[in-house]
Amino acid sequence: MSTLSTAWPQRLAEAAAERRGQGLWRERRTRGTDLVDFAGNDYLGLANDPRLAEAQAEGARRFGSGAAASHLVSGHLEVHDVLERRLAELVGRPRALLFSTGYMANLGTLQALCDDATHVFQDRLNHASLLDGAKLSGARSRRFHHRDHDDLERLLARTPAKAAKLVVSDGVFSMDGDVANVGALADLSARHDAWLMIDDAHGLGVLGAHGDGCVGRAHDVERVPILVGTLGKALGTGGAFVAGSEALTEHLIQFARPYVFTTAQPPGVAAATLASLDILASEPERRERLRDAIGYFRHEAALLGLPLADSFTPIQPLMLADTERVMHWAADLHEAGLAVGAIRPPTVPRGEARLRITLCAKHDRAALDRLLENLSRLQREEAP
Ligand code: PMP
Repeated sequence: MSTLSTAWPQRLAEAAAERRGQGLWRERRTRGTDLVDFAGNDYLGLANDPRLAEAQAEGARRFGSGAAASHLVSGHLEVHDVLERRLAELVGRPRALLFSTGYMANLGTLQALCDDATHVFQDRLNHASLLDGAKLSGARSRRFHHRDHDDLERLLARTPAKAAKLVVSDGVFSMDGDVANVGALADLSARHDAWLMIDDAHGLGVLGAHGDGCVGRAHDVERVPILVGTLGKALGTGGAFVAGSEALTEHLIQFARPYVFTTAQPPGVAAATLASLDILASEPERRERLRDAIGYFRHEAALLGLPLADSFTPIQPLMLADTERVMHWAADLHEAGLAVGAIRPPTVPRGEARLRITLCAKHDRAALDRLLENLSRLQREEAP
């Protein structure tokens, strides 16, 4: 055995010990069906809708359980084509291109568009896949302070006028729930001749007049040329898409390695997503119920003096700050039958650990009251 291979177990043990020592070990739990889920991203309550399950089964029967190849070989099926057209329509773009996951859509888009001569400007709180995509591309990356357009403008102004520039932001920030000012980002990008990419993973299906997200039909393709949406959150299935011009999507088909070198989305998932888009259009009351749940939770939590963040989206973090406190509250809530996210560094900055509570159209008053009562109890138990 070589020295290197014998060194590996030691390296793994050291990395594990370091993470445990920092109190940051990530536990993976099997989600019990007996828990009320305040941790997921199934904002419209579609993931368990029987109509999606039926469409998925029917899609699998008609087209196969798997696509059997990548899109460019023989895996691109009619159901993918129909879904791409429907997604493009939803967000008011000429075209949409399906990816297997949002992580891959972001990785592939940045890798295909950028090289070491590109300057990429990222909001400090952007999703990991956006940061990783820029790294993969070799671009020169800079991060601006969260939603700070003056800081972004300073960075843009310092960059050579002729350089290729790309501004990148989450639409709804996944750990904070606040929303990018897309109009201001589009103005700034236009002024500095930069392209703008918005990842609307958490806005799609939730925000916008048609559930078309925080970009959608409100901001046209000239102002936001690159739009990413994911299907595994409000739409209840899985996968993602990049929407934009014909030229953009064709470029990605040619050059985005996470698009080219992977098996196409299982056709049943595409069929289920089509059913989900039908429900999004025909049942606007789901978005209404979600808005009610958000309003009620925020109102009651504020009365209890809980540390809410400035968010009107389904992502409602409670800023507990301390990692141990977050772990204690999450474990206690779990015991009480309530699943919430315990978010710690390195996912968020040091000192900003939080409970990530997410709301869903299916949460009724009884479920919300149960959560609020338990949060209130935890707060009382801490009182000196
Ligand atoms: N972008 C954002 C903002 C996200 O929150 C996530 C998922 N957590 C992704 C992209 C990745 O999407 P997917 O889960 O489909 O890979």
